Amino acid sequence: MPIQVLSEQLASQIAAGEVIERPASAVKELVENAIDAGARTINIDIREGGRKAIQIADDGHGIPADEVATAFRRHATSKLTSSEQLEAISTLGFRGEALAAISAVSHVTIVSRSHGETSGIRLQMSGGEISAQDQVGAPQGTVISIENLFFNVPARLKFLKTVATEKRLIDEFVTKYAMAYPAIRFRLVHDGRISFQTTGSGSLRDVLVSVYGTEIARELLPVGATSDSPATDLPITDPLAAPSPITITGYAAPPSIHRANRNHITLFVNGRWIKDKNVTYAVVQAYHTLLPIGRYPLAVVFIDMPLNEVDVNVHPTKTEVRFTNAGQIFGKVQKAVRQTIIADTPVRSIRPGHFESLTQPSGWEGRPNQAFSRTGSEGDKSWEYALRHPQEPGRFEPDPQGQMGLGLPRYANAPQPIIGQDAGANGGPATQMQNELAGDKLPIMRVIGQVGSSYIITEGPEGMFMIDQHAAHERVQYENFMAAHARQEIPSQGLVAGAAVHLSPDQATLLESNIAALGDLGFSIEPFGPNAYMVRSVPAVVAHQDPTRVVLDIIADLERGDNPMQQKVEDKIIRRVCKTASIKAGQTLSRQEMESLIQQLEQCQNPHTCPHGRPTLIFLSVEQLAREFGRP
Ligand code: ADP
Ligand code: MG
Repeated sequence: MPIQVLSEQLASQIAAGEVIERPASAVKELVENAIDAGARTINIDIREGGRKAIQIADDGHGIPADEVATAFRRHATSKLTSSEQLEAISTLGFRGEALAAISAVSHVTIVSRSHGETSGIRLQMSGGEISAQDQVGAPQGTVISIENLFFNVPARLKFLKTVATEKRLIDEFVTKYAMAYPAIRFRLVHDGRISFQTTGSGSLRDVLVSVYGTEIARELLPVGATSDSPATDLPITDPLAAPSPITITGYAAPPSIHRANRNHITLFVNGRWIKDKNVTYAVVQAYHTLLPIGRYPLAVVFIDMPLNEVDVNVHPTKTEVRFTNAGQIFGKVQKAVRQTIIADTPVRSIRPGHFESLTQPSGWEGRPNQAFSRTGSEGDKSWEYALRHPQEPGRFEPDPQGQMGLGLPRYANAPQPIIGQDAGANGGPATQMQNELAGDKLPIMRVIGQVGSSYIITEGPEGMFMIDQHAAHERVQYENFMAAHARQEIPSQGLVAGAAVHLSPDQATLLESNIAALGDLGFSIEPFGPNAYMVRSVPAVVAHQDPTRVVLDIIADLERGDNPMQQKVEDKIIRRVCKTASIKAGQTLSRQEMESLIQQLEQCQNPHTCPHGRPTLIFLSVEQLAREFGRP
């Protein structure tokens, strides 16, 4: 085939792929345009997660009638005229790509009336070509409707995730922009139902209430000296203003509120939502030693800085930026957040009424301080009970270590006789033992004792076992749960008062789409106001856990990984339930408790690994011991 220049249409379709990856990217671009147009109200109407239709209506300055067609051409923008301006971009858009890209891959109708004009213009486009154009009466502002996104790019269509996933991503974008622009009234509707809205009052705290719920919003601590200012002001966007120093503002949750992943750290630079590993890490670092291992903070951080010290033209989607001095930004963010939480911490621990408020059933965040306040004998007794009555609800401490079953001591030169999922790979004695034991039930064992309040030592017919108590109990719980599931008899426990869970809109969408699976597994959860849910019952094994925390952890698990098949969803939920219900490392066990656990492990079909695949035990044969001691 000879070399030839691509047709304009094909080139546009190819370029469109970079900017408009999925429905949520179209929503993002259009919302950015509305913000750039000075809108005070932005209404977003989505059908079927944006696959069917997306409509964004704003009351911004509109597009002059004779410029509308131009707006849809590639590299057409009113926001940039010279390369000097590229050094200091003050608008969210500047590449002149979005409208061209969207119209290249969908059917678009735009109605816009520019301020100062008496009537509006309507333009219809299909696959990048204008198909109709007429004058219409319209209020000032712009309404863009997109239908049949990717109708002419079947490959892209095929790779779109489920409607629920697309909805969740749209929710995520919209909530982020609502946080950055509290003075704009946002309303997001999915299939006729309002999923999220803000008042446009100008107060960031009001937006945070809409996003995180009253309970969390009330607890959030202002960051930075001028921390009240982002709540009332729009970010600085005047490029001609004298270069201001870098300011860090926003809100950070106290260490008692934490999450299972980093998704709840939200960053903005000069009013632009960004994703930045380095700055995210700065926020995490600010909580160093204050959060349980494996848990992450919730924070909303605004970095306002001279426009020419940050390059926003790194990627077509404009969510990545490059700082001239990344180290300085890291330090400032870390320090500002750290100061906020340190200043608050000593007061909080003695603040009267704090614990009362945490035990209100309406508190959606749960009772995170319990992990540290309730210790010793009570905890021990509670799980002693559970071990003796494995089918009945257990009462266990939250897992302060997060991840158990790791970090077993190994000796540098010694053979590593691990019997687990990937044990045999190294060859040697372990392989042989692996082959003999993998998948098999365990032999009858005699409990010798406990090491480090975390490992149980037992003796079997051929040697010694070191058993990770948390991993082992997880395995036991998992097999019991699966057996109950197979019989369709998962014991469920009603909650007397119910427990309210307040979710962000994207989490709510995720929960809704999995509510049936949760129901099958013993959870009964009902809607309870916008993005709020009431947990009425939970699987009996977690009856004594904080139900709100259990549900939030399940949602966090589901958030990881896209488009799970139903089987996988159930599996994730079951694993989380079993993990939550299991005894933790660091708990001293009585002999009886150890014996009960070991007996149950002996009954398991797959006793060698926990449900997450980590080994439950390490075996050391009598022969290996002899070798280690240099016996002939
Ligand atoms: P960019 O935002 O990078 O300039 P777009 O393709 O998104 O590129 O938009 C092209 C132009 O169309 C913008 O520069 C702006 O002048 C105009 N425009 C787009 N959307 C709107 C809107 N909602 N209100 C007013 N003008 C708009
Ligand atoms: Mg734009």
